[in-house]
Amino acid sequence: MSIKTMDITKIITGIGASEGIAIAKAFRLENPELIIEKKSVTDVVQEVARLEAALEKSKSELETIKEHARKELGDDKAEIFEAHLLVLSDPELINPIKDKITGEKVNAEYALDEVAAIFINVFESMDNEYMKERAADIRDVTKRVLAHLLGINVSNPSMISEEVVIIAEDLTPSDTAQLNRKFVKGFTTDIGGRTSHSAIMARSMEIPAVVGTKKVMEEIENGLLVIVDGLDGQVIVNPSEETVKAYKKKATEYATQKAEWAKLVNEKTVSADEHHVELAANIGTPEDVKGVLENGGEGVGLYRTEFLYMGREELPTEEEQFTSYKTVLERMEGKPVVVRTLDIGGDKELTYLNLPKEMNPFLGFRAIRLCLEMQDMFRTQLRALLRASIYGNLKIMFPMIATVDEFRQAKSILLEEKTKLQEEGVDIAENIEVGMMVEIPSSAVNADLFAKEVDFFSIGTNDLIQYTLAADRMNERVSYLYQPYNPAILRLVKMVIDAAHKEGKWAGMCGEMAGDEIAIPILLGLGLDEFSMSATSILKARSQIRHLSKEAIEQYIEAILSMSTTEEVVSFVKKQF
Ligand code: PEP
Ligand code: MG
Repeated sequence: MSIKTMDITKIITGIGASEGIAIAKAFRLENPELIIEKKSVTDVVQEVARLEAALEKSKSELETIKEHARKELGDDKAEIFEAHLLVLSDPELINPIKDKITGEKVNAEYALDEVAAIFINVFESMDNEYMKERAADIRDVTKRVLAHLLGINVSNPSMISEEVVIIAEDLTPSDTAQLNRKFVKGFTTDIGGRTSHSAIMARSMEIPAVVGTKKVMEEIENGLLVIVDGLDGQVIVNPSEETVKAYKKKATEYATQKAEWAKLVNEKTVSADEHHVELAANIGTPEDVKGVLENGGEGVGLYRTEFLYMGREELPTEEEQFTSYKTVLERMEGKPVVVRTLDIGGDKELTYLNLPKEMNPFLGFRAIRLCLEMQDMFRTQLRALLRASIYGNLKIMFPMIATVDEFRQAKSILLEEKTKLQEEGVDIAENIEVGMMVEIPSSAVNADLFAKEVDFFSIGTNDLIQYTLAADRMNERVSYLYQPYNPAILRLVKMVIDAAHKEGKWAGMCGEMAGDEIAIPILLGLGLDEFSMSATSILKARSQIRHLSKEAIEQYIEAILSMSTTEEVVSFVKKQF
């Protein structure tokens, strides 16, 4: 890919989702819609040859991807592509397609689409996870072959082998998980907000990102030089040499600032008036622990276990999960690790569960709702967690709790599994704390009721804000309503912290708001005990808290909670603290 030149530099504004500066060539991630039309053909021999050519092209492409995946991601991930290759060579699938072309004199696209649909339906209706996965394989492979038949380019991020900035309409969390940090220097998307999961992952992977731009796909061609400024939420397309120089300087300044914060890596987090709070990190994989320790995290405040279930074709086994949890607990060397049970749904899909599409996935069958129904899956996770508990300081929390009854059900399943394991003679840690996420307004309002039953709360503001203001966290059109400092949110947060303290329990926050520099003084004043954030935000937050006095802020809390608008809160905090 060569760098293309254009005369004009364009600046596109979006939401800075992950700090840092990236300068590299654009790589567009295309995911076009494939439209299949039925056509009659006269030369069926040529049509079959067209099908065969598309099959061959797909095979050689898959071979390359498989090798690349093996080198970069390991044998596990490479196996997915091996399964795809097998589908392409399966006469049970391919012969009926050829028969259809010859017998009905129809075009290859149509024959392939029709035959594949029959197989997909048959496999999907089987009551067997393995067979259901075959449906997903056939769907993926069919798409690839159809794209070749239609002459459409479908880009593949795992094929990237030079430094790029990814340009995409959207990135799913599993797309993000597959990005190779060595080559992907930054990314920018049309849709998404600061708290969409791809943005959260970008922060933990330290990949600068700007999301919600609405127009990068429209404006940026493949190969153009692009600067992603995740600090100020800007994308600069085709910058002049001077601009590149200025951004290189900005990147160096940011690095210097980070080096300054890094001096606090082994310090406790103490305010100017000697009040200690815990600064913990949010992680998605055991590999993320390295970043937590390098950034001086005092614990893991949220381990999003769902990433263990993603980017694969089947549920992780109890043994696999046990190994991951044990690894995290051991690497954290006795520091607290709050593991959240599976929170799938919303923008985090598991295709192999084959759940029907929903009108409102964020309000639908997700997280604890799904776990209480799909209990085998839930129990497997709980067993793995309980077994791992002796390797460190484990705390377990349940996501998306809306009612006290849900918490009781989840906890009693946990206790049942604990008893079973103990009967089997398995060692389990004493006194594992069991808490919940407060991310649904009903649980914040009823925090006093929950506080009697839980060991701790962790406030999930990413969801709490979207549900309180009824503003989809993924939708940049309503991002103006996504207001962390809205008095409604601040009042709910206060209710949760006060309710916890009244019962002698602790309250943390693992939503992105916990690492937000405007929110931090308010949260300190409200008495939040634990702040859990992207590891890369910890040192900056520690530096900020060292200059704040909790007692001084407490005097203003009533006034802040009586302010009518976000703007008032922001300008007050900026001026006062
Ligand atoms: C939250 O909702 O604030 C949270 C931490 O959970 P997630 O972002 O994974 O939904
Ligand atoms: Mg949430």
